[in-house]
Amino acid sequence: MPLTEFNLIERYFAHKDPRRDDVVMGVGDDCALLKVPAGFELAVSIDTLVEGVHFPEGTSPEAIGHKSLAVGLSDLAAMGATPAWATLSLSIPEIDEPWLQGFSSGLFALAKKYQVQLVGGDTVRGPLVISMQVHGFVPEDRALCRSGAKPGDGIYVIGTLGDAGLGLRVVQGKSSANKNDADYLRKRLDYPSPRIETGLSLRNTASACIDISDGLAADLGHILKASGVGATLQVDQFPVSDSLRNTVSLDESIRLALTAGDDYELCFTVPMEREAALEELPVSCTRIGSIEAQSDLRLLDANNLPYPMERNGFDHFRK
Ligand SMILES: [Mg+2]
Repeated sequence: MPLTEFNLIERYFAHKDPRRDDVVMGVGDDCALLKVPAGFELAVSIDTLVEGVHFPEGTSPEAIGHKSLAVGLSDLAAMGATPAWATLSLSIPEIDEPWLQGFSSGLFALAKKYQVQLVGGDTVRGPLVISMQVHGFVPEDRALCRSGAKPGDGIYVIGTLGDAGLGLRVVQGKSSANKNDADYLRKRLDYPSPRIETGLSLRNTASACIDISDGLAADLGHILKASGVGATLQVDQFPVSDSLRNTVSLDESIRLALTAGDDYELCFTVPMEREAALEELPVSCTRIGSIEAQSDLRLLDANNLPYPMERNGFDHFRK
């Protein structure tokens, strides 16, 4: 018997763990019915992943399932929100059960880790496109916004930068890496780790926060614009992985750290008097620069000399 849309949702997406007490009605009616706890705001974000644009063709269905939820959870992390629910719109070229099984297992493994319940969805026939909306809770007036950075605040990042962008280049044959490094970089591209616990810990500490989806320069640029400030970064302080360092030159590692997307690490700012609290973070962070009153982004090298942006072709980030 051919698999209908109804059966497909029943088989691969409905009634999966976790089941949350705040879901009055999940998959199975015209709408989901959900309870937001008193004293909390609802944080909502949606992302769309298109094959060949947001993930390379040939990416495993498990990785696509993981990533389609991870990118939304990364936005919740950046707001200091606790994940709760997700809804899915899935466009697939054909009903391919092994693919659906893989996608579902990658998606629900991550959903289980963060207690996210899939409460609704839709499937259509078309090019491979996945839209995932995520919902989370943040105590009233406690969300980590982009607009709170002040001159004198330190600028920090979690994890390492540039790995996913280099992973994509390796997949595309534009860079070559040894097998161990290529595997590591590919994993960073396919299986981003949303920094949920870190986002929650930063609620009392950070003055502004964003997740790095489009590259450090672009995403920090959003903080600078929203906060009406500028910044100086020390390029020699950028945290990069051994795999990245093994694979590209120093200048190229700086360019990747600044401009490569898809890392889904957090970039945040912290007033000096709260910097000691960063020792309590669940993962280590790296200070890469400071917020300044003067607008625009400036780069310094290890000798505190201006690092020429035009050397790497990202001069347009100056404005
Ligand atoms: Mg974001």
